[in-house]
Amino acid sequence: MSLFPLFRVACHLFPQANSRHTGGMTDSTPSLPTRLAGHDWPELKSGWVWLCGAGPGDPGLLTLHALNALQQADVVIYDALVQQDILAWAPQARHIYAGKRGGKPSAKQRDISLQLVDLARAGHRVLRLKGGDPFVFGRGGEEAQTLVQHGVPVRIIPGISAGIGGLAYAGIPVTHRDVNQSVTFVTGHDQSGETPCSLDWASIAKGSQVLVIYMGMKHAAQIASSLLAAGRPTDEPCAVVSSATTPDQKVLETTLGRMAADIEASGMQPPAILCIGRSVLMRQVLDWQGMMAGAAPRDLDPLGRGLPAEVSCPE
Ligand code: SAH
Repeated sequence: MSLFPLFRVACHLFPQANSRHTGGMTDSTPSLPTRLAGHDWPELKSGWVWLCGAGPGDPGLLTLHALNALQQADVVIYDALVQQDILAWAPQARHIYAGKRGGKPSAKQRDISLQLVDLARAGHRVLRLKGGDPFVFGRGGEEAQTLVQHGVPVRIIPGISAGIGGLAYAGIPVTHRDVNQSVTFVTGHDQSGETPCSLDWASIAKGSQVLVIYMGMKHAAQIASSLLAAGRPTDEPCAVVSSATTPDQKVLETTLGRMAADIEASGMQPPAILCIGRSVLMRQVLDWQGMMAGAAPRDLDPLGRGLPAEVSCPE
């Protein structure tokens, strides 16, 4: 059976070859309804802090709770990975940058948490907006804990994490039935924030068929050699996805053995997700952004199953 008709369907569904990543947004300030109707949306009250995920970049990946919060906040305190377009949905609010990169001075974590406490105590409706999901390698738990310890009421709004949504934008399913029954999310930094030395890479290597590593660029060579030493194969497929879901998204496909050298040669910069495992091969058939731009899928059966996708392989 030829699978090419499926490709034509994909092109038909996504005909705007040049609207990659933008999710249909235009260059001008996006217009949205002033209030969302049809649901009993929570009210962001004075003196509260809502700790909210902004997703990996594309504003279309915000949740409706995030949008509801943006429309009500009078202060938005945001971090470095939050796209400016998203802030345009809170024109009534004061925007305070609390990020830790981008050439601006770094804010210390404790100072950010205490600033949130002060803003809430001053009676503001505070939206704390963080990249991805606030509880995934984002120190959101610490901020929320400090708020609760100071008697400030909080609401948590989850977001799409880069290690799931960012990979999906690259055409890599974080789980795929023929590849993995588990996935491990790892930070490339240890608790000191500096090196991955104290992580137990031998256990991590054995833990799951697919590893998704956040903040791994700086120490990619050390991470790869630790995983190879623990028995992961040199030719294991890997992908590096930087600035995922934004107009600057870049994807590098490589192998564990070549990963560090290829990152160096590519000049790719953080933020980036490293994905190690055979699910990376699925990009050959699922690179939907490439297909939107007119490319044919490279291999319709990249895992070589020889069966339709839904049919289980014989035991
Ligand atoms: N809370 C965030 C993660 C914060 S840690 C989340 O759930 O996604 C910061 C790291 O996240 C970055 O160093 C990078 O590894 C990853 N990251 C965040 N946004 C990204 C993006 N758009 N593209 C690639 N990686 C991203």
